[in-house]
Amino acid sequence: MKKRILITGAAGFLGSHLCDRFIKEGYHVIGMDNLITGDLKNIEHLFPREDFEFYNHDVSKYVHVAGNLDYILHFASPASPIDYLKIPIQTLKVGSLGTHNLLGLAMAKKARLLIASTSEIYGDPLVHPQTEDYYGNVNTIGPRGVYDEAKRFQESMTMAYHRYHGLETRIVRIFNTYGPRMRLNDGRVIPAFMGQALRGEDITIFGDGSQTRSFCYVDDQVEGIYRLLLSDYSDPVNIGNPHEISIKDFAQEIIELTGTDQKIVYQPLPQDDPMQRQPDISRAKEILGWEPKVDRKEGMKLTYDYFKQLSPEELKKSEH
Ligand code: NAD
Ligand code: UDP
Repeated sequence: MKKRILITGAAGFLGSHLCDRFIKEGYHVIGMDNLITGDLKNIEHLFPREDFEFYNHDVSKYVHVAGNLDYILHFASPASPIDYLKIPIQTLKVGSLGTHNLLGLAMAKKARLLIASTSEIYGDPLVHPQTEDYYGNVNTIGPRGVYDEAKRFQESMTMAYHRYHGLETRIVRIFNTYGPRMRLNDGRVIPAFMGQALRGEDITIFGDGSQTRSFCYVDDQVEGIYRLLLSDYSDPVNIGNPHEISIKDFAQEIIELTGTDQKIVYQPLPQDDPMQRQPDISRAKEILGWEPKVDRKEGMKLTYDYFKQLSPEELKKSEH
């Protein structure tokens, strides 16, 4: 009998890669998504398979799944700042009500639940690099608060179910992850810069570009999540690539990679945009024996190759 896993957010960037990975590992995968930021194109190659099912459903509403479940991965949530600023209430709901529904489902099915948390729970961090012990610096009422606080609540509720009900839970704190199947117009910096290069638009740096990020290739992220799910560790674990770069230097790397002759233009820094971010991955190394393998140059090339083969219509859709 195949193990059965429910993956919410299955039509999104990370969810679709997780569907592929668990199919490859011999699981029966049940994908669920309401397509608010996702795209069926990311999983349509799985539709003919007998070991894959898909349900179009909003997980902030009661979630029903027929049959047994061994595992649940809760990845449904808008994840890009322009998405969650556009749909703030749905973002709060899927992190809170959605998580509550999936905790209830996990109890009913006696399944292990892994939730997708985020480096955003550290806010604009005062500790660098960020260890899991750092409590964070989040503006609850700022525009990003809808995402950050939903994810913080998600972690608290998950730990409450773990402690009070003895539910098997896992918490992954995901740091900026990129790769094929990101939406070209989702506003995150990698699709934004690559889209601009492909459309022949100027490269938009927000602020002076001194803010830093650390980018993890999707295959490394999926490997970390896979190992965490199968581990016996219930405290949060950072998964990300510690190789940090300023956005200004990163823009130069993209200009070199794409060969664009566009210029860099500066736009205002969005409110509460974190100034620095780098995961401390000591815990993941120790507990999961995990560390990233794909360097930025290689990962960016794979991602650019994906964007390059999109149709002219897909390329045209710019939200800037
Ligand atoms: P994404 O937008 O590509 O995927 C999210 C998916 O969730 C979409 O397909 C969307 O339609 C679906 N969804 C949203 N609300 C839903 C709802 N109420 N019911 C059902 N489906 C719903 O984003 P992503 O980058 O793949 O992120 C996936 C998860 O990983 C999110 O929980 C996000 O917070 C987390 N995460 C991602 C990153 C990253 O760098 N990619 C970093 C930190 C955390
Ligand atoms: N950013 C930028 N230009 C863009 C899009 C993003 O300079 O066109 C910056 C953004 O202000 C942030 C960084 O790039 O400092 C990463 O942004 P992203 O939205 O990818 O992720 P997050 O802020 O959630 O880490």
